[in-house]
Amino acid sequence: MSDLKYCQGPECHTHQTQDRIKGPKGNKTYQTRRRSSFYYGNGNFCSLWCQNQWFNKFGNRAIDHFGRTTEAKHLTEHNAWTKDYDWDSSYQTRTYVIRNGITKEQRPITEQQYDNDNDNIIDDQGRLNI
Ligand SMILES: [Zn+2]
Repeated sequence: MSDLKYCQGPECHTHQTQDRIKGPKGNKTYQTRRRSSFYYGNGNFCSLWCQNQWFNKFGNRAIDHFGRTTEAKHLTEHNAWTKDYDWDSSYQTRTYVIRNGITKEQRPITEQQYDNDNDNIIDDQGRLNI
């Protein structure tokens, strides 16, 4: 069973391309693109044009719904932690670290800690949890 889905672009069907023409002879129409997967907007849009059309129409409502940024966010020493790795001089071995983008402090972690996204060493806000 193929799992086809429609492009979410509200004006997709108005873009007159050959591949959008569907229907029986004498009753052909331009139709919203339907594919098993799309490349844009987390797989929801057939093109950047359709993604932009969606945002032009719904973007403000989406931002208001999910939370509009109304003041500056701050990257500080408390939320500037990221995972990283360094190569040795011969590019044979990686050394895994967590690094603070503000203070430049660096602490070693294991490869398992680096690979594991669920261990909460660093939360999704960039804060240290160990
Ligand atoms: Zn589209």
